[in-house]
Amino acid sequence: MSTATALKVHPEEAALAPIPDAAVQAEPELTDGFHLVIDALKLNGIETIYGVPGIPITDLGRMCQAEGIRVISFRHEQNAGNAAAIAGFLTKKPGICLTVSAPGFLNGLTALANATTNCFPMILISGSSEREIVDLQQGDYEEMDQLAIAKPLCKAAFRVLHAEDIGIGVARAIRAAVSGRPGGVYLDLPAKLFGQVLDAAKGEASLVKVIDAAPEQIPAPSAVKRALDLLKSAKKPLIILGKGAAYAQADDDIRELVERSGIPYIPMSMAKGLLPDNHPLSAGAARSTVLKDSDVVLLLGARLNWLLSHGKGKQWGEPGSKKFIQVDIEPREMDSNVEIAAPLVGDIGSVVKVLLAGIDSSWPGVPSDWTSTINAKKEANISKMAAKLGKNASPMDFHGALGALKQVIKERPDAILVNEGANTLDLARGVIDMYQPRKRLDVGTWGVMGIGMGFAIAAAVETGKPVLAVEGDSAFGFSGMEVETICRYNLPVCIVIFNNNGIYRGTDVDPTGRDPGTTVFVPGSRYDKMMEAFGGVGVNVTTPDELKRAVDAAMDSGKPTLINAEIDPEAGSESGNIGSLNPQSVVKKKK
Ligand code: ADP
Ligand code: MG
Repeated sequence: MSTATALKVHPEEAALAPIPDAAVQAEPELTDGFHLVIDALKLNGIETIYGVPGIPITDLGRMCQAEGIRVISFRHEQNAGNAAAIAGFLTKKPGICLTVSAPGFLNGLTALANATTNCFPMILISGSSEREIVDLQQGDYEEMDQLAIAKPLCKAAFRVLHAEDIGIGVARAIRAAVSGRPGGVYLDLPAKLFGQVLDAAKGEASLVKVIDAAPEQIPAPSAVKRALDLLKSAKKPLIILGKGAAYAQADDDIRELVERSGIPYIPMSMAKGLLPDNHPLSAGAARSTVLKDSDVVLLLGARLNWLLSHGKGKQWGEPGSKKFIQVDIEPREMDSNVEIAAPLVGDIGSVVKVLLAGIDSSWPGVPSDWTSTINAKKEANISKMAAKLGKNASPMDFHGALGALKQVIKERPDAILVNEGANTLDLARGVIDMYQPRKRLDVGTWGVMGIGMGFAIAAAVETGKPVLAVEGDSAFGFSGMEVETICRYNLPVCIVIFNNNGIYRGTDVDPTGRDPGTTVFVPGSRYDKMMEAFGGVGVNVTTPDELKRAVDAAMDSGKPTLINAEIDPEAGSESGNIGSLNPQSVVKKKK
């Protein structure tokens, strides 16, 4: 029996009605809902919980901590939820977010929906009000039918009403989160559940350890042959690595597949570093050429969604010029946008193994005119970029500042890069090379702002590695209060804010002259002072050289640091590089 299953008498109750020691000994040992939740999580290897305390889960958080689970308390549930989501991505175990009822639950729900969209395994556990009162809509404290609201926004949702079902409820949540396509799961725990008392032995027997939570899925030999035949017929093959490939942790086999086949590859944003970005087969710097001119494309854990222009249109060259092989654990992903000539449904680890077996002496190799076309394009683009990165001008533009950060990651390849913003995101993605898997964490499938501090905190907690969070000034605002959390837990996080006084640019004006423009912030803000308020290190920099020195100092010291990098307010472009998605009115109304 674990120590948690022995019911502890609350000190206040003890004071009211002191129970003689002998009487306690004689009673059968008891447990309750609180202890059973903790025991169920521990039994399944959950080591960390991200959350915000409050009614009715305050004591649960406290008790988790006392029982050895690490509890990271945030200032807002959305940030705790984002932390849990990225912990799931990094560890292949569901990240846990714990919140209070109604408003806390809703704050966490955004992160849960985002985790589901990104295929990150996560469980949002929220306390809730009394079922009987909620269902009759009698106006309970924070009344809300949370289960019904969560259901359409996540992969699965469960509620536990009886303490003896906690073991099953937690097991179902874990399996739902990590099996098949990973995603977000909601677990509803009504306040009354926590206090339900049970015989300790019966309680322990009700716990469930999830066996083989994410079973291997191996594709049929006929599907593998179809894919290999197509790949061998290619004159201009291309591999696209997505974040599903990064998630799979099949790093060595994926590298072997690329190197043994000799097929050029491009990484999607969070797959950067799966192979180092300076790898000779990386076609990242010739991205538009390979998308347009390739004839057979192997998608490895990447979806043909908006981030790949849905696999069609100008970017993909002539209609019908391309055949796709898609590796994905989710069968329904196939043909989502275009015909998939060779679907390979299975987990990436298993699929890559069987593909490797087929890249044998019969492998024809990749035609050299294809690789030399790509290399020529790469070299031209890389040298064009290098000229922009070398400038040490003040005020800084994005490229100058990013040139300094590119050097930081080159010198510290095991650091984790968190990145959000508009220009700050788009340009950093292209400029900063990554060298190791799962080191680049960013806005993902939705391009959502606000992931920054949650991701940075969880990355530091889960990996123990230094974190560099490169943030647009607007993006940072969505989770900025968590700098207090970073200082409180003394995490090795260095935040760099690209401060260009606003969203996209800092130069908009209100045509009526009444208010600030809708996209601008207080000019010359000093975000570094926020960090100092909580005991961290704040630095203001105006040149790429100063920026590099400040980041190096932060990473050497491991101290929580915020660097306010002054960027020319004129430097950004509207919506970064996805301006085409942002409709602009062409009608000028007469006054
Ligand atoms: P990116 O944005 O990098 O292109 P996506 O999130 O669009 O990546 O796609 C990731 C894909 O990977 C999803 O379709 C998901 O089902 C799939 N996936 C996630 N984990 C695995 C896995 N272990 N094996 C196979 N496919 C996976
Ligand atoms: Mg900005």
